[in-house]
Amino acid sequence: MKDVNIAWLVKPNIRSLRAYQAEEVPCKVKLDANESPYSAFSVQRSAFSVKKALQLLNRYPDPQATSLRKLMAKELKVKPKKILHGNGSDELIYYLIATFGGPVLYPVPTFSMYGIISQALDERKVEIPLDDEFDIDIEKTIAAIKKFKPKLIFLSSPNNPTGNCFSSNRILKIIEGAKGIVVVDEAYQPFSDKASFTPLLEKFKNLVILRTLSKIGLAGLRLGFLIANKDVINEVNKVRLPFNVNSLSQAVAIDALKNKKQMRSNIASVISERKRLFSSMENIEGITPYPSDANFILFKTANTEQVYKNLLKRGVFIRNMTAAVKDCLRVTVGTSKENKIFLKTIKDIS
Ligand SMILES: *Cc1c(COP(=O)(O)O)cnc(C)c1O
Repeated sequence: MKDVNIAWLVKPNIRSLRAYQAEEVPCKVKLDANESPYSAFSVQRSAFSVKKALQLLNRYPDPQATSLRKLMAKELKVKPKKILHGNGSDELIYYLIATFGGPVLYPVPTFSMYGIISQALDERKVEIPLDDEFDIDIEKTIAAIKKFKPKLIFLSSPNNPTGNCFSSNRILKIIEGAKGIVVVDEAYQPFSDKASFTPLLEKFKNLVILRTLSKIGLAGLRLGFLIANKDVINEVNKVRLPFNVNSLSQAVAIDALKNKKQMRSNIASVISERKRLFSSMENIEGITPYPSDANFILFKTANTEQVYKNLLKRGVFIRNMTAAVKDCLRVTVGTSKENKIFLKTIKDIS
């Protein structure tokens, strides 16, 4: 075989990047990826439209995802032209950074894709540590905005992996103080009792909201939405690949969104399970759970690596967060049965 030094050909920013580690581990109880334990789609109840989409796979999907965006617009109480569809919100994060470039500012710890995509696109990252309450350090953030003039700021609220919402007056201060785009990533907003930032789109041209169907029962579809004013939408739409959301995802999502009652009740179940899981965790000696507005709970424990490995050995797969938050693991809220298994197992090994 002809010998070529592939690494030498690669751009330096890619050479030093590591591929995203989404492990597939065989396990009994999968509570690692903040998925919903309930599917928002029912094969039995599915409409004829899904069958029709299956019959039309020789055709390209609707490049504008017109019906889907209309439905989502109704759900979010905005105009369809203020919504852009993505193959997961990950893709929309990619598009935002491709469109506006850096510096890209975000608090840490937070969702890892902001940093990974910034590096993939060779844009400068500015990371500001959260304060002791996992809230935005507003003085440092405002100072960094003045110094680095970020084109993009990402705020995941509720924040992954800490679980809390940032205080809304701090988010507001950032939107008011920034000259660049402020993205409020509301992947977990449906699980929170704090208000969405979408109504503020009327007031701020530099505000962008991200939503996803991944955490509310449709992670396999890969569907995310960017909500913003039309000038932003028009620019980001230039880098969007024409057929980024496939026809099956569009059809299934439309079907699921029409059955809002089921989706809402699934979300309500996750919230009530989260409350039960949290109080049970509070009563386990040696672990400290942090309050959560999302569908997961971050918790502190001694011997983190050992606890993580012992859970996995017993078939309970959660997320090791020690690299991002010292001594911390993150568990996704599962079904009541899954949560019971998690609780029993962690009690047994602690
Ligand atoms: C899971 C997650 C996403 C990614 O969602 P996809 O739509 O599945 O790409 C985005 N932001 C945050 C904060 C997340 O935790």
